[in-house]
Amino acid sequence: MERRPHVLAIPFPAQGHVGPLMKLSRQVARRGIRVTFMNTESVHTRMLQAWGDGDRPWGGIEMATIPDGMEEIKDMRDIEKVAEMRVKVMSGRLEELLRKMNSSWDEKVTCVLADATLGWAFEVAEKMGIKRAMFWPTVVPGLVLSISTPRLVEAGVIDNCGSASSDTAIQFSPKLPAVKSVDFLWRCPGDQRREEIIFRHAMSVNKAVQISNWLLCNSFYELDHAACGLIPELLPVGPLTSTDRLGNFWAEDLTCLNWLDLQPCESVIYVAFGSLAAFDQNQFEELALGLELSGHPFLWVVRSGFTNVDEIKYPDGFLERVSDRGKIVSWVPQEKVLAHPSVACFMTHCGWNSIMEGISNGVPFLCWPCFADQFYNRSYICDTLKVGLDLKAEEAEIVSRHKIQAQLEQLLSDVQIKENAERLRGMARRSVSEGGSSSTNIQHFVEQLKCCSEAVYHCD
Ligand code: UDP
Repeated sequence: MERRPHVLAIPFPAQGHVGPLMKLSRQVARRGIRVTFMNTESVHTRMLQAWGDGDRPWGGIEMATIPDGMEEIKDMRDIEKVAEMRVKVMSGRLEELLRKMNSSWDEKVTCVLADATLGWAFEVAEKMGIKRAMFWPTVVPGLVLSISTPRLVEAGVIDNCGSASSDTAIQFSPKLPAVKSVDFLWRCPGDQRREEIIFRHAMSVNKAVQISNWLLCNSFYELDHAACGLIPELLPVGPLTSTDRLGNFWAEDLTCLNWLDLQPCESVIYVAFGSLAAFDQNQFEELALGLELSGHPFLWVVRSGFTNVDEIKYPDGFLERVSDRGKIVSWVPQEKVLAHPSVACFMTHCGWNSIMEGISNGVPFLCWPCFADQFYNRSYICDTLKVGLDLKAEEAEIVSRHKIQAQLEQLLSDVQIKENAERLRGMARRSVSEGGSSSTNIQHFVEQLKCCSEAVYHCD
């Protein structure tokens, strides 16, 4: 009797981490590996609610859940406690679960495939003699930076809280632009505690890399060859895309697709800031007025919790004035939207998934980073890849409606940026097609899983 290799995939519990790991898991499962995808109970409940009634085709992967101890947290805004509790509860439960699974011939886990931020998962797997694959969900030069943070702290370039002097620029290779301190992956303007937590995650990546048997990331070699050259064992397997709604935390409003069908080709500004970014009321209103001033049709995702007031409040008369050319919804099927011929550009917070999805569809970006890796991604898009423009504002300064209008006009008339975006689209598509770099890397990972010791048992 033959047993298939069994991968236990563990995402960080946030939309931008669950989505790509699930897409990767499905690709691995499609190539004959058994994959169990382990969400926290709360994320799983959320995904089921977003899906609604009806069958849930998980795309050939099995779903499991693990508690994360959140019921014991009195104030979810206490992000320090939330982070500590997650590690404490989830690492203990993972160990229990792996022991149970590994005591059964059928369930035995060949490899733990976990998000790079979950250092504890790699430690548990190592302790139990299970192979480990790390999934890096964002920009590759960010992995180079994270791996180097302990060394940079030791050298005094970065302090223990992740800060560096404002003129710091870290050059990892002559082929890569220097990383400025304003682009550190953990940067969270106005939120020192969050910054420190993300910095601690970054500091833990080095150790997790050292104890991992494979490193995978959501990018493609042709895009990131300079950074990939610094981490030769890295397997870029992206762009990880899929046009079904598997893994969504919100229900999709499909009316936006019919609305897009009615708009002229390459006319629509698509505006979306991912799952976590939030605006204060003044900035929100200024954005609304900037979209109005642009005169272009726009599709704007305004999710619940997008502003810092309880109820979303638009500027007086705004909704009436833009009713003939503005569509506002709470969540869209983003990959379908970006692939739609009516979309002209993407105003984005520069979350890495959004960037990969935009690149896969040749859409130019107007960059509005809010926190964490988004600042680095912005610089990468605008200065290195040259497929977008920046909506710069000094810290604590509001981005004005006039600035929004001016940058939109400039972006939409920039032929070079559009050409660059088209070129990257071709490269991205080739990398995931048969024989392309990313699909070859996934296949390589799968082959290694199949032949690594104990992966396949033959019993008579
Ligand atoms: N997304 C979506 N519908 C929306 C807005 C976002 O499906 O209306 C998806 C988007 O396609 C991406 C993810 O949510 O895969 C957001 O991830 P990203 O890394 O861009 O940002 P984060 O939410 O992590 O800040």
